[in-house]
This record gives sequence, structure tokens and C-alpha cells, in this order.
Amino acid sequence: MPSTPRLTLLAVTLSLSWGTLARAETVTVRRGETLTKIARRYGCTLPQLKDANGLKKDALRAGQKLEIPPDCKHALPDDAPPLKVKKLTHEVLVDETLEEIALRYGMQIDALKAKNAAALKRGLKPGMKLKVEAADDGRAQRKIAYTIESGDTLGSIARKFGVSVRDLQRMNPKKKADRLRVGDKLVVYKEGRSSPSQSVGRPQAGRLIDGELFKDVPGTWMKSPTTAWGTNETVRALKGAIAEVRRKMPKVHDLTIGDISRKEGGFLAPHKSHQSGIDADIGFYHRGQPKIGPRAFLDGTVVGLDLEATWLLISALIGDREDASNVEYMFIGYPVQEKLYKWALEKGIPESKLAWYFQYPKGSRAMSGVIRHEPSHMNHIHIRWKCPPSDKNCL
Ligand SMILES: [Zn+2]
Repeated sequence: MPSTPRLTLLAVTLSLSWGTLARAETVTVRRGETLTKIARRYGCTLPQLKDANGLKKDALRAGQKLEIPPDCKHALPDDAPPLKVKKLTHEVLVDETLEEIALRYGMQIDALKAKNAAALKRGLKPGMKLKVEAADDGRAQRKIAYTIESGDTLGSIARKFGVSVRDLQRMNPKKKADRLRVGDKLVVYKEGRSSPSQSVGRPQAGRLIDGELFKDVPGTWMKSPTTAWGTNETVRALKGAIAEVRRKMPKVHDLTIGDISRKEGGFLAPHKSHQSGIDADIGFYHRGQPKIGPRAFLDGTVVGLDLEATWLLISALIGDREDASNVEYMFIGYPVQEKLYKWALEKGIPESKLAWYFQYPKGSRAMSGVIRHEPSHMNHIHIRWKCPPSDKNCL
């Protein structure tokens, strides 16, 4: 944890780290919002906001995108209408100033001081926890523990987390760049929602950074709600496919969703994979089930499959173009593949597409098709997505 050296309030510190915070933010205009109201919310002047967006008039329409220039104060003027704010905790970094912290959360510096009057009596110290408020929990600070692996450098770790090397050093004041050892722990503070997920390593030996929890998705039932963390891409793909089935067949039952990954990935019993946010277990659609769904994985060779809905699901996941598909593999027991294959063939799906999709009828050991046999997959589908192109450390 951060040591407690005297804090140096260097102007250069402020400008350096502000550089990493000062991204132009884009907001979408909601019905009834005026330019004045938006300017006030972000601490911009009207001309500032108009210039940044090339606006000649003050009129706005709902849905319009506005860029908030980074030089707006991001602080609420005293007469601003109250916003819903979230109470958060901020852990002070080495060399961090009250101004920086206030700017980060869009707070008035006086309000920040008032909220933390007792703690600040002894001065601002690294590692100390301050009470802060923000209108957007995307600015919430999250603490990630990272274990150094062979081949890591400060630079490669900084890139992995999307922070600067300087900020990484501020977060770990006791670590010397030339003395990093495999197995050492580093602490990384990241902003909340704004950070994209990253799949790291292999599905059989990997982890997940800034994963997204698959939850509250219409038409689903979660078998294991706490181990349903995936990459943003995994969650988006799964949501999209389920929504597509429901658009075409609104009466389907809720689909049972099993394990994806743990919050930070890693070993998840009883699986070999599911370690890096790019694997998911999902049920089949069955006939004659209540709308709330079967609430378990049912054997597709025993309980009547809804072949049409299950076909829609797998084709929404795999897609129509081989060169654009994000699915690496899908594991489905061979006898279930047979049922789906024969149904699709009868419905006139081209054989070329079926040969791309299915291992069937080439045998349960054939190295062919996106959909492969796995003995324990008579009652569910295991999807393995390809590495998201942005995740450089995904294998
Ligand atoms: Zn699985």
C-alpha cells in the first residue's frame, strides 16, 4: 500500500495527470433540455459549448450529441439544479491534489473539503480515503490487484490497463521499475464504467479485467448469477442473439444461462475453460416449458427440443458470414447436433452453411464445423468466442 511521504503539490503534477483525465465527453440531449442547462451542469460557458459544437443558435433537439470541451470546469455552479449524486470513496494517490480529486468527480473543492473536514485536519496523505460524490459512477475509482508475470514491464502493464506509466508509478510508490519480480503485486486504480473489458490469456488459463456482469436481460434466467461475468463483447453478443430469437418468436420461454466467468476470471470449477470471459454455457429452447423456463439445463436428447428456436439462437450467435463470425467454437453433443442439422436441412438451409456450422454428419471426432461434440454437452451449449480484437493479451 502507498507509503506516507509528504505530499508535494507540484503544478506539473496537476497538468500531467489532468492530461489523462481531460477527455472530451459526449452527451446526448434529452427531451426538454436546453443549452443553458447543459452548460451549467458541466460548468461550461454558453460560448464555450457553442464553439465546441459549431452551434450558431441555442436551439437543441432531443437525441442530438454534444461534445463537452475538456476545459469546462466540470464543477457545479452554486445555483445549479440538484442532480442525483452517488456517494463514493476515493483513495488518495501519491502526489494527488484536492483540485484533481474535485475535478475528477465534478465536485466543488469547498464541498470536498467540507465533507472530509475531520480527515483533512492532518493533511492530505496517500492511501487516505475521502468521501466524494459524483453524478456519474463512471468516474468511480476501482482498485485492481495485479500480479506481475514474466515478461511484464511497467510499460506493458500500463498499456494493459490503459493508464500512463507515470500514473502507474503514483499508484505504486514503493515499486521500482528495475526491481519488478514475477509474483509481485501492483495496485491499479481505474475509472468505473468508462473502461472496456479485457480478456487476458487463454480460456483455460486466463483472467478477466473490468468484466461486465450479464444480468437483468429480458428472456433469461440466471442459473449462476455471480459467475456470469464476461467481456463487453461476450455480454453484447449473447444479449443480441437472445433478443433476436425473441423478436422472431416472442413466445419462447426464458433461456437458462449458466456460467460465463468469475468477476476477475481465473479457475471456475468444474470447468477447464471459462477463465477469461469469452466462454458461456446456455440452455437449449424446449417445447412445452412454462414461460419462466425450465430453470435447469434439460437434456436435448430426452426433453423435446424447440428446434426452430434453438436454430435461431445458434444462427444469431454464429452469424451468416464465415469471415465476420465472432464465434470460435460451440460445443453441442453429437446427437443434439444431428437433430438440429436434420431440421435445418429440411427447412432449406443451404448445405454449405450447415457444413460450416456443424461437425455432424462427419463423426463426433471430426475436426470440422464450428459446432463440435463434447460428451457433457447434451443439455447445454458452450460458446467460445474469438478474442475481441482490442484485447491484445487475449490468447
Ligand atoms: Zn462450458
